Amino acid sequence: MNISLYRHAKIIEHRGDILFTHEGLSGPGILDLSRYIRAEDILKLSFVPDDKRKALEEWLIDRARQDGRRSLLSVLADLSHFELPIVPLYPRLIKRILEISGIACDLQMAQLTREMRSCLIDQLTGLSLVVSGLCGYNMAMVTRGGVETKEVDSKTMQSRLVKGLYLVGEVLDVDGDTGGYNLQAAFSTGMQAARSIKSISD
Ligand SMILES: Cc1cc2nc3c(=O)[nH]c(=O)nc-3n(C[C@H](O)[C@H](O)[C@H](O)COP(=O)(O)OP(=O)(O)OC[C@H]3O[C@@H](n4cnc5c(N)ncnc54)[C@H](O)[C@@H]3O)c2cc1C
Repeated sequence: MNISLYRHAKIIEHRGDILFTHEGLSGPGILDLSRYIRAEDILKLSFVPDDKRKALEEWLIDRARQDGRRSLLSVLADLSHFELPIVPLYPRLIKRILEISGIACDLQMAQLTREMRSCLIDQLTGLSLVVSGLCGYNMAMVTRGGVETKEVDSKTMQSRLVKGLYLVGEVLDVDGDTGGYNLQAAFSTGMQAARSIKSISD
């Protein structure tokens, strides 16, 4: 899904998979963005792309007309059959979205007022979550920051400041998206350093 990060204004937008865990958000989309996220930032998650608001509204109105006695919860579970390119919504997640929107879970479609519908569409196109914090260093998979790459000769991985000191992997100010880029950086820089050290000793 689309994830937007705000600190006063929008900082960055990213697209990726999200995992809703018991403790918070995870998954590749969040891991990639975590290099920018700070406590108290706002994340907006779009289950439905913002430019589909109108179509979503028409769909909800249509469902209310056709099936007024059906519960909103079960109609929203059908949202993945809706022709829009949206992510599937699971009942527990829908309940939480309804709670956040201030709408009773057992509400029938016919009881959905224009105000409630508008609030629900706001949350489906941009569920707003305030970041309480990140998991911290002990849980981190990758570190951002480190020795500046300009201080290191990329052919040998030897420090330009301290002769005989080689710097590779996480210790460098290099971080990549999730997907193997960090391991690759560690392997490649490690190999460069090893070859260079070996060539000196040969
Ligand atoms: C849970 C988890 C999942 C990850 N998933 C991915 C992924 O899917 N894709 C990806 O690209 N990257 C992933 N990473 C990141 C990736 O593992 C690291 O970027 C990579 O291992 C860095 O390699 P490195 O050799 O620089 O450091 P490390 O692998 O951290 O190696 C450093 C080594 O130094 C040792 N050491 C530390 N201090 C000392 C000391 N004083 N004396 C002697 N030895 C010491 C440590 O014990 C360790 O063995 C993940 C990391 C974690 C923690």
